[in-house]
Amino acid sequence: MKLLKWLLVSFLCLITIVLFKTLSFTREEISLLPLLDDSPINKGVVSERLSQAIQHRTISYAKASDRNPEVFLEFHHFLATSFPLLHEKLSLKKINKLSLLYKWQGSDDSLKPILLMSHQDVVPVDDETKSLWTHPAFAGEISNDIIWGRGAIDIKSGVMGLMEAIENLIAQGHQPKRSIYLAFGHDEELGGEQGAKKIADYLKKQELTFELILDEGGSIVSDGVIPGVNSPIALIGIAEKGYVSLKLTASGAGGHSSMPPKHTALGEISQAIVNLENNPFPANLTYSKQLFKNIGPAMGTLKKAVFANMWLTEPLVENILSASRNTSASIRTTTAVTMAKGSSKDNILPTEASAIINFRIMPEETIDSVTRYVTNIVDNPKIKIEKLADFGNNPSAVSNSNSDSFQRLEQTIHRVAQDKDMIVTPYLVMGGTDAKHYTNLSDSIYRFTFSRFRPESLIQMHGINEQISVADYMDTIKFYRELILIMD
Ligand SMILES: [Zn+2]
Repeated sequence: MKLLKWLLVSFLCLITIVLFKTLSFTREEISLLPLLDDSPINKGVVSERLSQAIQHRTISYAKASDRNPEVFLEFHHFLATSFPLLHEKLSLKKINKLSLLYKWQGSDDSLKPILLMSHQDVVPVDDETKSLWTHPAFAGEISNDIIWGRGAIDIKSGVMGLMEAIENLIAQGHQPKRSIYLAFGHDEELGGEQGAKKIADYLKKQELTFELILDEGGSIVSDGVIPGVNSPIALIGIAEKGYVSLKLTASGAGGHSSMPPKHTALGEISQAIVNLENNPFPANLTYSKQLFKNIGPAMGTLKKAVFANMWLTEPLVENILSASRNTSASIRTTTAVTMAKGSSKDNILPTEASAIINFRIMPEETIDSVTRYVTNIVDNPKIKIEKLADFGNNPSAVSNSNSDSFQRLEQTIHRVAQDKDMIVTPYLVMGGTDAKHYTNLSDSIYRFTFSRFRPESLIQMHGINEQISVADYMDTIKFYRELILIMD
């Protein structure tokens, strides 16, 4: 009887705590401050210039022989003629011939500079998908207040938006106190080794460090891109995952397949693959917890109760997030078996079999720790495990989401959006950006562009019918202009 009473009291206590946590899981009311600069931007002129930028086919082809450096030089010429004030006031250094590094000298050298990034190149449009575009991919057509074409969101709108903002500020007579650098790589879509990496090397040589580095990699999502939340969410990337592919190789005696051993070399490799798929990397909920702390209050009551009580529900949340491949990728190093090879003929036993597995590495882990984990799970001395080629990078450092720069970035987003429902939150970027090359140049490296994504627009990135609305593009320009003023 005493035990029953005790259990009942404990249960009631638990319910009270859960209820209390759920009810107090609310958002701070945000006060919407006006823009520091709300002077007009000529919608027609800036849209037309973005349309022209899209028509420059600065394509990063996978095959080197397909690439054309000429188009980048023509694009540079186009920028110089489109933004005369900027090219008069700012100094320009071309890095590795095709990447651009601008500097707007500030009046106060005691202030650390900021670096705003974007990239000139775009991904190709496959021949098979060309006919599926409503407007041709490189025509830059503007129709019903939408600018169409490859690079509209990824990311000519970033290069052009930054330049428009600065041209506009110069025209108004603005002179920054803090120096501003603009860095536009030319091979982001190929990993940035020839562009951003070389720019970063140059900046390191100058012994520069930055108050803020801002690249692409986060944006505003709405309408259920994150299920259960209808408020728009500005996702600011504070870190990005690393990348490595490992090659697993097993040797066999070979010979005729009429008298096979119990396990061929390919069989050994297959077992290793099964083991790896069945033993995913352990979950790390650090970044998800941060995200849910911010978006949880905008969810329905049940989900709100779950996320308000992570002290109790963490195993449940881990299970839910692990169940879908999108969310699973946000909490662990992912394992993707992508290629495999056996013998060259159906009746020949393989003398060698191999598989290639691609891993996207969580912060706090490294290529070495991933290799160790894989070696342990494969647990087969007959299988050689090695890194594929020279390619691969450790995850980026994690930038602080409580820094002064983060707060200024958040404030800029609110001032431009003017939306009380807008949630701003740090998050982990799943893909790779040029920002990974800038580690050590700043403690505050963030990834965000002021573009809006709904579920249907997400697939346009690197896909067909890439487009940006004129309204969103205007906000992109306003965002950069406001950020420059707020950082000053
Ligand atoms: Zn991009």
